[in-house]
Amino acid sequence: MAGELGYSEIKNKIGDIRFTKLFINGDFVDSISGKTFVTIDPRTEEVIANIAEGDKEDIDLAVKAARQAFDHGSWPRLPGFERGKLMNKFADLIEENLEELATLETIDTGKVFNYEKHVEVPDLIKELRYYAGAADKIHGKTLKLSSELQGYTLLEPIGVVGLIIPWNFPSAMFILKCAPALAAGCTMVVKPAEQAPLPVLYLAHLAKRAGIPNGVINIVTGFGHIAGAAVASHMVIDAVSFTGSTEVGRLIMQAAATSNLKSVTLELGGKSPLVIFDDANVEQAASLALFGCLANKGEICVSSSRVYVQEGIYDEFVKKIVEKAKTLVVGDPFDPSTTQGPQVDKKQYERVLSYIDRGKKEGASLLIGGNPREGKGYFIEPTIFIDVTDDMIIAKDEIFGPVMSLMKFKTIEEAITKANTTIYGLAAGIMTNDLNIANRVSRSIRAGVIWINCYLKFDAGCPVGGYKMSGFGRDHGIEALEKYLQTKAVVTPIYNSPWL
Ligand code: NAD
Repeated sequence: MAGELGYSEIKNKIGDIRFTKLFINGDFVDSISGKTFVTIDPRTEEVIANIAEGDKEDIDLAVKAARQAFDHGSWPRLPGFERGKLMNKFADLIEENLEELATLETIDTGKVFNYEKHVEVPDLIKELRYYAGAADKIHGKTLKLSSELQGYTLLEPIGVVGLIIPWNFPSAMFILKCAPALAAGCTMVVKPAEQAPLPVLYLAHLAKRAGIPNGVINIVTGFGHIAGAAVASHMVIDAVSFTGSTEVGRLIMQAAATSNLKSVTLELGGKSPLVIFDDANVEQAASLALFGCLANKGEICVSSSRVYVQEGIYDEFVKKIVEKAKTLVVGDPFDPSTTQGPQVDKKQYERVLSYIDRGKKEGASLLIGGNPREGKGYFIEPTIFIDVTDDMIIAKDEIFGPVMSLMKFKTIEEAITKANTTIYGLAAGIMTNDLNIANRVSRSIRAGVIWINCYLKFDAGCPVGGYKMSGFGRDHGIEALEKYLQTKAVVTPIYNSPWL
């Protein structure tokens, strides 16, 4: 286990935690009730800060500010180019403050600092710039109509949007939803996850410094069943974009259906397969399987938590993955030698351990790991089960932790059937050099993204989202912009006759 970095070193890096209040209409304010909740450092279980706890009344205030900014403010009326310029300024400020943002991500969630600094935060900056570039390229169509009429469509911002985001990628999820909404000209109320509010509040402060007008971005921290539920059922919010559990996604749809029928997009759970064929390079396949499943300590919706290996290379693969797994380092995520930090909080830690227990009771065998680390912090060893069958709970449920089910298959048909044996359909991976296998399997797996000979390759330009119970609607790409727009058709006669 790697060594721990104490608070004094972190304070030296970023100073005091400055942003802990709700961000409404451009100001950081206390909640109306004055209540707060704590956010915890998962490395040490210490309290990092007290955060303002927003209730329904605070959501009402934030919605009022967002409505005013949408109905009467400059943002939706600015030329797209001007919106893009401010978004690029926002991206510049994140770039300048990259280290502070990455530090907040690591202390609030336990993510590996080096990965934050060199991959995640740079990627979200690219994402913001991608949509800044799209802001002045939002075009309708000219319509060819059947009579003496002419028509065209306008793509208009959908209005005030509610963005409900999870804890596993606080900054990236915020930018993923906020950037296309900003480009479209929407205003928004954001409900960050209660486990990881600090990075989102910090980003709100940078957006203000960039000159994004007051009321365009509003952030209400608080609990899901109160503040989140108030967003989902609000009569004045026009659309909700949610990422999180399937269970809560269902509640959000119900709330939208029984309130104002707002449009809803849901990015939910997954149980994604990685299918490795006999012709794959075993060395590379073992590395990819570990990365796909254990990246972000397995707290990732597209985690390749089901790994299927063809029988011809299975034994060699098992040897190789054990060898490689032994080199992984669980420890303080600020330590450069660490590859895996702690789970986000006690609840997730206990949930993952209970799945490991369940796997053992169901008759699966532990190839490696399976234990928590002694002492403070929510650390769990990278864990691989073999002798897993498709009907076991560990092969069916989204565990959201560093736990892999490793299984064997014989034929392509069997691989396709097994890969599709899930209620989810978020992602899948295939490893083969045979083009025919790659083409056939990628078309047969029902999932929103298929990675061939790679995994977790996200890109601002590549849409990601669910099939089946993994949800609907897409994040990333031009597809994400479309969910913050609506189409208006305008029709006029070609000649000046009212009767045509
Ligand atoms: P969650 O779905 O409970 O929370 C996600 C967001 O929804 C948070 O902001 C939360 O405050 C909010 N929320 C909770 N209840 C709500 C409600 N009734 N109405 C409106 N908003 C509400 O997820 P979780 O508890 O943080 O994690 C539980 C499981 O969800 C995980 O173990 C994992 O399986 C899954 N998960 C998936 C993703 C993903 O990226 N797809 C992310 C986080 C969690």
